[in-house]
Amino acid sequence: MKLDHPEHPAPVDAAARKAVHPVICYPVEGLPHPDLTAYRAAREGWTLTAEVLVPPREARCFDVPAGHFFRIVSVEGPQVGDLNLFAAGNMGERFFSGKTRALHGTHLSTGDRMWSCLPYLRPMATVTEDTLDWYGFDTFGGAVHDVIGTRCDPYTHALLSEGDQYHHCCHSNLTRAVAAQSGLPLHAAELHVHDVLNVFMCTGFTRDTGQYFMKASPVRPGDYIEFMAEIDLLGALSACPGGDCSDEHSSDLASCHPLLVQVFKPAAPPKGWQPAGPNAYDRSHGAAYQP
Ligand SMILES: [Zn+2]
Repeated sequence: MKLDHPEHPAPVDAAARKAVHPVICYPVEGLPHPDLTAYRAAREGWTLTAEVLVPPREARCFDVPAGHFFRIVSVEGPQVGDLNLFAAGNMGERFFSGKTRALHGTHLSTGDRMWSCLPYLRPMATVTEDTLDWYGFDTFGGAVHDVIGTRCDPYTHALLSEGDQYHHCCHSNLTRAVAAQSGLPLHAAELHVHDVLNVFMCTGFTRDTGQYFMKASPVRPGDYIEFMAEIDLLGALSACPGGDCSDEHSSDLASCHPLLVQVFKPAAPPKGWQPAGPNAYDRSHGAAYQP
């Protein structure tokens, strides 16, 4: 793709074909909408039940019961976080970055949801507040909290660096944290680590080549993104070795800071809210159902 000199000549109607207007793949108007007013009202009188400080270049796990809230808070300095979510008690149900992107776009903010993988596909968490929502899209096409990157990992790093071994990429941090939480051996835990929500990370695609880019995160201490858990959750958050991701990751060169996770229990669940139920698809896939 993106050859400067294509091998094949454009057909005579090339301009007309290119001029066709796009349509949104997944119009989300039909999705059940979270009642943000009710969600936010439930914060009144809530109780802080847990705090987890994620050290720089490390990851930690945390539990959030359905109907409770959690915040990821910037402390000490600009720092990007890589977030994995699992259904508590079933690590096979995990965050589905690709479908979340297809539904909500390249970056998440207030009102958007983190969806679980097939065959579950239900909301895991809803963003209820984002202090960086003012950022929008900048002139480079960059925005905050992306679901277009994956997570920094030592395999890509080895490919790009003639085999250099770096052990504190988010993939490895999350692997160690999930292993410690689950009791699984490291290599078994690694298989559960999945594509992330890049919390506070400022990213986009270059307009000319379509390449994934990052730039210094606009996050500052005190900023946070807040979620309400739609199901019982196990979360895992890595404080990326890229720090604010202004320059490079997959090394110890960037200035890194901790991230704080806070879990809040509301006095009562949001009015009218129910935990997310199973997806309505019957899973027969056109054949006789075999349980
Ligand atoms: Zn990372």
